[in-house]
Amino acid sequence: MDRILLSKPVVGGAEKDAVLAALDSGWVAPAGPDLAEFEAELARRTGRSHAVALSSGTAALHLALRAAGVGPGDRVACATLTFVASANAIAHSGARAEFVDCDGSGALDPVLLDSVLSRAHAAGDPFRAVVAVDLLGHVCDYAALAAVAAAHGAVLVSDAAESLGSERDGRPAGSFGELAAVSFNGNKIVTTSSGGAVLTDDAETAAYVRHLSTQAREPVPHYEHREIGYNYRLSNLLAALGRAQLARLDEFIAAKRRHRKLYRERAAAWPGVTVLGDPHDDDRENCWMTALLLDPAVCPLAPAELMAALDEAGIESRPMFAPMHLQPVYADRAAHPVHGGAVSEDLYRRGLLVPAGASVGDAGCRTVCDRLDTLLADPARPSGGVR
Ligand SMILES: *Cc1c(COP(=O)(O)O)cnc(C)c1O
Repeated sequence: MDRILLSKPVVGGAEKDAVLAALDSGWVAPAGPDLAEFEAELARRTGRSHAVALSSGTAALHLALRAAGVGPGDRVACATLTFVASANAIAHSGARAEFVDCDGSGALDPVLLDSVLSRAHAAGDPFRAVVAVDLLGHVCDYAALAAVAAAHGAVLVSDAAESLGSERDGRPAGSFGELAAVSFNGNKIVTTSSGGAVLTDDAETAAYVRHLSTQAREPVPHYEHREIGYNYRLSNLLAALGRAQLARLDEFIAAKRRHRKLYRERAAAWPGVTVLGDPHDDDRENCWMTALLLDPAVCPLAPAELMAALDEAGIESRPMFAPMHLQPVYADRAAHPVHGGAVSEDLYRRGLLVPAGASVGDAGCRTVCDRLDTLLADPARPSGGVR
């Protein structure tokens, strides 16, 4: 039997045709009609006026921060429970990331953020920006976060790398914050193999991001540059792939929602196991990744043991992201203070990501659930909080 992988890109005939058509059109590089169309389609899907397609989600976050005026020495508040790219983009801009804890949903905690920004404001050393992260596709409480950021003069940047296609309060993910970044990395819900985009409602901001992404080349025939730019533009070929993938976004979301629902139903039989997130949110979110939370007092296996047992059965799983404040690279507390941290550490210690992507299929998910039945609910196994 093939290994069941956590998240494998789903590409088929439509994607192949789109890339070959782009090749045949002669628009191999760098810009072209597919790039412009991809941006228009992205903007439409995320309810934004403008999208600028770039070579990665990290590049998108980096340029979003640059466009937000973030530079050397600035304080930037960053969700600590995230993939490292959120914090790295802050470092790339020369600013200093300070980490802020999440609430039980894994999203940046607005109450904690308010106290952190208030203290900094009162001390005369305010934060320049806030990077909020839609963890595993769950959209942050942006109504609360935007009010907090605005009250303290900070720019709100939404890291929507994982949440394309999700909604909150009737608005699409990517529409929140002054700027948002999405990713089309191979493991994301829609992929260009590697890619990303900055989303904004401001035409000048979009033009500036586009300018920075193309070596900050001035619009004159000779090569003239007035500031240091980047080579971050997405190519037309990859944009063609992105368009074909974006057309399938709803199909991928439907599969991931079905799989999340199956895990929720089956988890009832697994002692001490719940599925992260409020079930009522599942129908509004893209369910990009599904995480099980194991209660060590009840669950017969620890996450690492369960991961090893699944691996033996040919099933890939992975621990929840380790919070940034626990990463060796960001461990210098003087440079990178952490505000709170216990909630994200708890989710990290108890969390296990399980296969639920479109590539897994309904049958694949049932296989994983059957195996979890055996590993967790077998009455022959010792259980009852021995560890
Ligand atoms: C994937 C991801 C990114 C970075 O995207 P890349 O396209 O891989 O550079 C940023 N933030 C989060 C939360 C992500 O999951």
